[in-house]
Amino acid sequence: MELEDLLKKQFGFTSFKTGQKEVISALLNKQHTLAMLPTGTGKSLCYQLPGYIFEGQIVIVSPLLSLMQDQVEQMKQYGEKRVVALNSFLSQEERGNVLAFLDRYKFIFISPEMLMSPYIIQKLKNISISLFVVDEAHCISQWGYDFRPDYSKLGEVRKTLGNPLTLALTATATSKVREDIIRSLGLNGVKKIESTIDRPNIGFFVEQIADYRQKEDRVLELVAQLQKPGIIYFSSKKAAEQMADLLSEQQICRASVYHGGLDQDTRILIQQQFIYGQLDVICATSAFGMGVNKENIRFVIHFHMPMQLESYLQEIGRAGRDGEPSIAILLYSPGDELLPLQLAEGELPSESQIDWLFNLLENEGESVNGGRKLSETWRELGGFSEVQWRIVEEFVTRLGQQNKNLCSIRNE
Ligand code: ADP
Ligand code: MG
Repeated sequence: MELEDLLKKQFGFTSFKTGQKEVISALLNKQHTLAMLPTGTGKSLCYQLPGYIFEGQIVIVSPLLSLMQDQVEQMKQYGEKRVVALNSFLSQEERGNVLAFLDRYKFIFISPEMLMSPYIIQKLKNISISLFVVDEAHCISQWGYDFRPDYSKLGEVRKTLGNPLTLALTATATSKVREDIIRSLGLNGVKKIESTIDRPNIGFFVEQIADYRQKEDRVLELVAQLQKPGIIYFSSKKAAEQMADLLSEQQICRASVYHGGLDQDTRILIQQQFIYGQLDVICATSAFGMGVNKENIRFVIHFHMPMQLESYLQEIGRAGRDGEPSIAILLYSPGDELLPLQLAEGELPSESQIDWLFNLLENEGESVNGGRKLSETWRELGGFSEVQWRIVEEFVTRLGQQNKNLCSIRNE
């Protein structure tokens, strides 16, 4: 079975995230591996999937009980029942039961303290460990930010267990810490796999453009010149629609629009047309992209900048998955950063809400409400939407006021 098929079958995912396949392939080649992949890239899958290929058991050392519990729960959700966590949460009796039938489990999570017990080590020696995983491996190093004394003894544990194939996982480690991990665990011939947010095949450009009109012209020009397919991201549905119309009317390319305002069927249709090459350009809001597995996207243009850097990274990350040269262009006009607030204009708080708010700011709550709970009055007024809260907070910050009543109502 192809790795992709196994991924789909066991986890329901259609493609690997950056680094996963490389790590798994190294392990299947029986190479000790040190993988440094950013948080959220799915490091757990790097040992979970081989679990369905290797004969023996997967032992995972994890430094935090909560992390361990999360992983166990997650695996159970995927339908994996042969998973257990050996830690201080277990009663004496439960632990005894687990240890008596250890070979029934496929995935054994264990805390580093437990590994200090000769009794448990003996039990582990009786099973066949096909992969020994050290999660959050930076905890091994005194130079790391989260040193765990028990972790520094894992090299010894590994040796006692007969030097099983080992995977060390971490999100961040300096080169010094990485060397520490390798030395401390005694990983000879280790394969190091690192991925950063650096995407060397994507060229990044930012262009300052005077205003909206000129941005439109620039996009038309760029799309005509650039190799397609591509995505253009907008913060507003209307702007996305206008641009798709312009591109079509001027016959620059086959373009369509995609945003959350379209019905489900239309969205799926457009996405499929793009994936199968019947459309060259999608003018989209951030609603577009999740789960769109298209390798040959040559450009991502941002007509507006996203509200968060993470969104920006995600969106441009859709370019050049095939490794071929690709381009990310951000078009910036002065004042763009205020756009989220402008978009919210249609959602300004009502007059009675504003009256109430002014009273609150002036009187610090008490007298306005005559002893009633602030939140009660507030609920009668209908409350604020998320966007309205942002406007209000912006407004209050500009007034230079820190209002604790405001915060407490928001949090209620
Ligand atoms: P990390 O340990 O690197 O921070 P996790 O292993 O906790 O990340 O995984 C983060 C999330 O990514 C999980 O919800 C997991 O189900 C999901 N995930 C892992 N691999 C894939 C994949 N190939 N496609 C989609 N989602 C994935
Ligand atoms: Mg993790």
